[in-house]
Amino acid sequence: MSDVSAQPATETHAADPTSLARYTTLRLGGAAERVETASSAEEIVQKVQEARLRDDQVLILAGGSNVVIGDAGFPGTVVLVRSRGLRVVAEDADTVTVRVEAGEPWDDLVAATVASGWSGLECLSGIPGSAGATPIQNVGAYGQEVAETITGVQVYDRADGTVGRVEAADCGFAYRSSIFKYSERWVVLSVDFRLARSPLSGPVRYAELARALGVEVGDRVPLADARAIVLRLRAGKGMVLDVGDPDTWSVGSFFTNPVLDREGYELLRERAADLGEPPHWPGAGDTVKVSAAWLIDRAGFAKGHPGPEGVAISGKHTLALTNRAGTASTAALIALARDIRDGVHARFAVSLHPEPVLINCAL
Ligand SMILES: Cc1cc2nc3c(=O)[nH]c(=O)nc-3n(C[C@H](O)[C@H](O)[C@H](O)COP(=O)(O)OP(=O)(O)OC[C@H]3O[C@@H](n4cnc5c(N)ncnc54)[C@H](O)[C@@H]3O)c2cc1C
Repeated sequence: MSDVSAQPATETHAADPTSLARYTTLRLGGAAERVETASSAEEIVQKVQEARLRDDQVLILAGGSNVVIGDAGFPGTVVLVRSRGLRVVAEDADTVTVRVEAGEPWDDLVAATVASGWSGLECLSGIPGSAGATPIQNVGAYGQEVAETITGVQVYDRADGTVGRVEAADCGFAYRSSIFKYSERWVVLSVDFRLARSPLSGPVRYAELARALGVEVGDRVPLADARAIVLRLRAGKGMVLDVGDPDTWSVGSFFTNPVLDREGYELLRERAADLGEPPHWPGAGDTVKVSAAWLIDRAGFAKGHPGPEGVAISGKHTLALTNRAGTASTAALIALARDIRDGVHARFAVSLHPEPVLINCAL
């Protein structure tokens, strides 16, 4: 059975159990004062409460696949979320609602839903990390987002010390964001997903996926086909964790796709006039979402572009920054990210924002 924890510790960090590099897919991050493992929702609450009584700061960490932790580490207690399990909490003829403990490895859950004939998560195959972290940034890929299937989130509310539930409508889900991201308030204990009983996927919305499946956008395909093709596409981009492939020693996309208003988009078109129409999609309201990967590439940062200490843009995907030598510092990764952000701004006057949560470091 797989574990939600990140890659096995590298030689460099194996000796020190408080080194946070052991617990992140970037293999970066200094030591914490204390690292505690919580194997159930009750233990998560208990560890957080105990830390509070000690007046300790608390960092909740699960798969470590969406965090960049500074070289100084974390001055407090890290609670590692390792709770497991899922159960059906509601069902009818057409749908089933599963409650999933926060520490359940995300891709195990997706595989289980596909095998059970439950439709709604199949395009999110191969994303690393835990089920409990998916509401934090409204995890999404290949035209699907967890906001479409989450009905509610069971939480420990650090503001008043109670366990309760946040309904989906109150989660503030948006593109790679929610009320939980960068919040000190809530600890996610479990998540409810309502899935359709169907051997077929939802309508395929992502053109690249439709092409690879040999169908039209809007068609449905067998769940197992959707999962298999998504996994294949992701692996080709270094977006499935692989201990043997340093192109995957990343946090996935380092920058979100910029969301511009109409005026901002027209300015970008002018700046990019010599490059043709920038790839773009309709965003929420009257906004336009543009491809961060395209901006980065056209600003002169190609796949494989190196930074200090052996960090580099992935050889397979322009949006992934990797600690490919396995020995770099967080400062080196941040230096590369700054170069890219500033280079894109100088060329296109568009600001890039980091997708992962930055802890004890800043861009
Ligand atoms: C190769 C690769 C590919 C990726 N592809 C995608 C992708 O396609 N789409 C996408 O959206 N993301 C992607 N990611 C990012 C990442 O996998 C997801 O954001 C994932 O949900 C993070 O889960 P985690 O358990 O690793 O979270 P962590 O990195 O452990 O934590 C991330 C943040 O959530 C908080 N957190 C975690 N668990 C809890 C909890 N139980 N309660 C409260 N706060 C919590 C942490 O404090 C931190 O702020 C990718 C990452 C990698 C390495």
